[in-house]
Amino acid sequence: KGSLSPLRKINKVINSYAIARQKEIDTLQKNAEFRREFIADISHELKTPIFATQGYIHTLLDGAIDDKQVRMRFLKRAAKSLDSLDILVQDLLTLNQMESGVIRFSFSEFNLKELIDEVIEELEHKASKRDMHIKFDFEADKSYWTNGDRQKIYRVCQNLIFNAMKYNHNGGEVTITMSTHKNSIQVDVKDNGHGIPPEDLKRIFERFYRVEKSRNKKEGGTGLGLAIVKHILEGHKSKISVSSTVGKGSIFSFSLPMVKRDPSEEKLKVVSS
Ligand code: ADP
Repeated sequence: KGSLSPLRKINKVINSYAIARQKEIDTLQKNAEFRREFIADISHELKTPIFATQGYIHTLLDGAIDDKQVRMRFLKRAAKSLDSLDILVQDLLTLNQMESGVIRFSFSEFNLKELIDEVIEELEHKASKRDMHIKFDFEADKSYWTNGDRQKIYRVCQNLIFNAMKYNHNGGEVTITMSTHKNSIQVDVKDNGHGIPPEDLKRIFERFYRVEKSRNKKEGGTGLGLAIVKHILEGHKSKISVSSTVGKGSIFSFSLPMVKRDPSEEKLKVVSS
């Protein structure tokens, strides 16, 4: 009583072995499916700039090269398509390195307010070049210091603030707020743009996922930005969260540790810079 007969014992072992094997097979199948999907996605993304460049170059070779104005216009467009191909390949490499864990994070203390100021300056310039009128609003009552990989956190802020600008209407607003909670600094990037439907909200951090394929194609993103953001924040033991309302806008938030600085150190920095 209480102990299993030898036959039932063997049966139990065989059963658990069969379950484990089935799990292994399921994982392999899932991996194969994932790889197939990924290759299909990449091929699709690569095709767009390659076809465009091919088109311009063949038209030039077919005679358009003789007209100086057309020549310049087509060469500029071909160069732009190649630039976007370069960005796509770079983003793919970054993501791949992050997913396989080979990318190194180089941590240091830095001023998060200064970093956000730099990003806003860069994007204000970009907006004016695109003839987009976006009002950037950055509220921070103090400059907070954090510990992280500055270059990568720059990328996080750049992607989030650029999206807030891209998926917005002309004349839209982007508000960035920095607030403190216990030992962390929370950054919120808020826009009053298109917003994201609830069914898409969970998937926007997947690589190549776009809410409206055709509309977003025009904006020229790679569909990898938020996947990169998620990985960088994971590398900082942080998470990205989002809330959004269609037609009203979105808020993307993340937190980083707050580093307390001796006020005299701050003064020294101001004096020496
Ligand atoms: P993309 O290169 O297409 O901008 P991302 O990974 O940065 O790629 O974003 C994925 C998708 O999430 C975008 O294509 C867009 O549909 C949606 N999205 C991201 N940020 C916003 C935002 N602030 N407002 C509305 N939609 C957004």
